[in-house]
Amino acid sequence: MLNADLHCHSTISDGVLAPAELAARAKANGVEIWSLTDHDEVGGIAEARQTAASLGLRFVAGVEISVTWAGKTVHIVGLGIDENHPTLTAGLATVRGGRQLRAREIADQLQQAGIAGAFEGALEHASNPSMVGRTHFARYLVASGVRPSVAEVFRDFLVEGKPGFVPHRWATLDEAVGWIRAAGGHAVIAHPGRYPFTDLQRNALLDSFRALGGTGIEVITGSHTPDQYAEYARIARQAGLLASRGADFHGPGESRADLGSLPLLPANLPAIWQDW
Ligand code: AMP
Ligand code: MN
Ligand code: MN
Ligand code: MN
Repeated sequence: MLNADLHCHSTISDGVLAPAELAARAKANGVEIWSLTDHDEVGGIAEARQTAASLGLRFVAGVEISVTWAGKTVHIVGLGIDENHPTLTAGLATVRGGRQLRAREIADQLQQAGIAGAFEGALEHASNPSMVGRTHFARYLVASGVRPSVAEVFRDFLVEGKPGFVPHRWATLDEAVGWIRAAGGHAVIAHPGRYPFTDLQRNALLDSFRALGGTGIEVITGSHTPDQYAEYARIARQAGLLASRGADFHGPGESRADLGSLPLLPANLPAIWQDW
């Protein structure tokens, strides 16, 4: 089984390394097939592809699209996309559209919780201001001493029921899978173990996703526990979805898993890259 790492983030969205730095890190860590999957943005793909080529690292263009489904946020990864396809780029532009306004509302809530200057603070951590999001707020809260780590910020702030949570309407599932397919890509459900769904809802999500032409599901991801590796390997098989693997690396010292460092997919599990 290949050391495939098909999910990570650069400074184009909420990662801390530039696309070229990620490519070098993937190569150094022994990754054999690599994808950059920034949130709602493909602006890092050209640099990632070029650097990967210069390193002899197999590269797949990717993106991670924010979706609202059953009132919750779900992430859909697109792999093997033509990042310049107009349907995809126009769709992603609409998804990015509301982030600045949302950031103002997040900052207003944090202000009421006694944390000043969060809008400007978050922007300082966002290389790409149109992509400002919760991770940038979390880094500002760490830098200003409110909490010692990003993980602890996400325990006490920015999540449902805590200060700094602003419900947001992202793309629909139909749109996200449609844009990915229009761009010639494969749609993959990201970190399925993270969503607060009942079994019934999760099965409905899998059914709708497949009916729309989605083909993959992440099994090995930095968001899953080892128990969830086994659980989602079983679900992938049952649902007839191809398994994917990626660290969801955001930066050194911040992410649970480094590029290429997680266990490989089980050898007998059909992998999303098997026919590429
Ligand atoms: P946004 O798209 O602005 O809602 O931000 C979502 C991002 O926040 C995710 O892609 C993660 O990078 C980060 N995030 C969400 N929940 C957590 C968590 N519990 N711990 C660390 N990072 C998180
Ligand atoms: Mn992220
Ligand atoms: Mn995600
Ligand atoms: Mn991600």
